[in-house]
Amino acid sequence: MRKLVIFSAPSGSGKTTIVRELLKRFPQFEFSISATSRQPRGAEQNGVDYHFMTNEEFKERVERGEFVEWEEVYAGTCYGTLKSEMERIWAKGNVIIFDVDVMGGINLKKLFGDDACSMFIMPPSVEELERRLRGRGTDSEEVIQKRIAKAEFELSKAPEFDYVVVNDILEDAVNEAETIISQFLK
Ligand code: ADP
Ligand code: 5GP
Repeated sequence: MRKLVIFSAPSGSGKTTIVRELLKRFPQFEFSISATSRQPRGAEQNGVDYHFMTNEEFKERVERGEFVEWEEVYAGTCYGTLKSEMERIWAKGNVIIFDVDVMGGINLKKLFGDDACSMFIMPPSVEELERRLRGRGTDSEEVIQKRIAKAEFELSKAPEFDYVVVNDILEDAVNEAETIISQFLK
């Protein structure tokens, strides 16, 4: 079974929080560790949260065809899924869980069709999104502004996903995602 579950959302919607909860509920899930050219944030570790690399290394690996998909999510900062990462997880018989930007989510769904379940995590409002980004306390004001500026475009892409889950009450959103995934894995 080579299946994948994709989560996309504007930054700050709560998708990392939801994915963490779901990893506890589905033992066969394994998180796809992306590559990125941004600097580690807070307690993030190389090879655990991301494969951190320079822009130069990232571009070299793009040219060598090592990525399934990649995006320059923010100006000057690239993120992508390595083919080797997907093969590593599938080789263990696990289901891959993705936390990728909206365009990455749409591209993965196109590539993998019925083997993929794509979910868009919707914040209750843009004001609440901004509150959550500030509350998280991990990003500079400049980074927060960049993320909010991108949110409107990202929200317009929600209909391209298999499912849209509103993350207002966290527990409700996690339960809804769990129900959708259980159905998909049947
Ligand atoms: P993302 O991965 O989408 O960027 P995070 O999971 O990091 O978002 O969540 C952003 C912030 O919002 C975090 O501080 C998180 O604790 C908080 N958060 C997540 N879901 C909710 C929710 N339903 N209600 C209130 N705060 C939330
Ligand atoms: P952050 O810097 O907050 O960790 O992530 C920023 C954005 O990059 C998020 O929307 C996240 O989902 C996205 N992202 C992380 N990994 C990948 C990836 O492999 N591919 C794509 N397209 N986006 C990713």
